[in-house]
Amino acid sequence: MTPEEGAAWEALRVSVAARSSRVGSALEGLWSGRMTPGTLTASATRSAFLGDVLALVREAYGANSLEALEAYRIARAAAGLGPLPATLDRPASANPDRVLESVEGIVTARLDAEDTPTLRTAEQALAAVSARAVSLAAYGSSDQIIRTVARDRDAVGWERYDDVGETCSRCLLLLARGPVYSATSSSFARHPHCTCGARAVFTDRGPSPEAREAYGFYAAVQRGEFRYPEGHRLEGERLSFRAALAAQRAGTLESFRASA
Ligand SMILES: [Zn+2]
Repeated sequence: MTPEEGAAWEALRVSVAARSSRVGSALEGLWSGRMTPGTLTASATRSAFLGDVLALVREAYGANSLEALEAYRIARAAAGLGPLPATLDRPASANPDRVLESVEGIVTARLDAEDTPTLRTAEQALAAVSARAVSLAAYGSSDQIIRTVARDRDAVGWERYDDVGETCSRCLLLLARGPVYSATSSSFARHPHCTCGARAVFTDRGPSPEAREAYGFYAAVQRGEFRYPEGHRLEGERLSFRAALAAQRAGTLESFRASA
């Protein structure tokens, strides 16, 4: 991957994460003062709420998709493959049924959890829907990349990427796999607060430096290179992947390195 490709993908990831997260804050801004115990049970207010969610998600999804297409064009040219064929130059748009189904599911589950809906229930539903709306908007970028890769004969595949120092343990494991996805594979799952992106791979180059770093870290943890020190409740036991990642972030990982 050329530095230019890397820069295009990184700019895309950061921008998509920021735009998507604004969907959550916009929704909270619109509805947090208007939530009452009955807001989501009354059909009129519920459909107004769902309409706002859909509008916000659609707009951000579309903008993310367009930006992903632009990054794809830049990266493809930087990889020496030339301009994107016109037949591939199509932005994706959010599937409204899927958005509504996903959001309705959250609202219904929250409301069903209590006999009498309270303001707290409504507020929890709003928070959960906001988090989901952020994910749904971010899919505009990954859907676009994965679809374009599937139709681009010159693309090798796609891979998940994120900031290795910031990503969660679950995503770190996923990105450690590197470009193992075939061009037709379309599985990319996000969890709440996931800032991962999907990027196209244009040359069969094996794992990226980030994927190697992530895998190296995982393997070191698995080999038991990091263990709880003397006097600790878990003395001698090896750190879990999650615990090792937390220690690395806190800058204390070296203090757990088992002596040879
Ligand atoms: Zn992630």
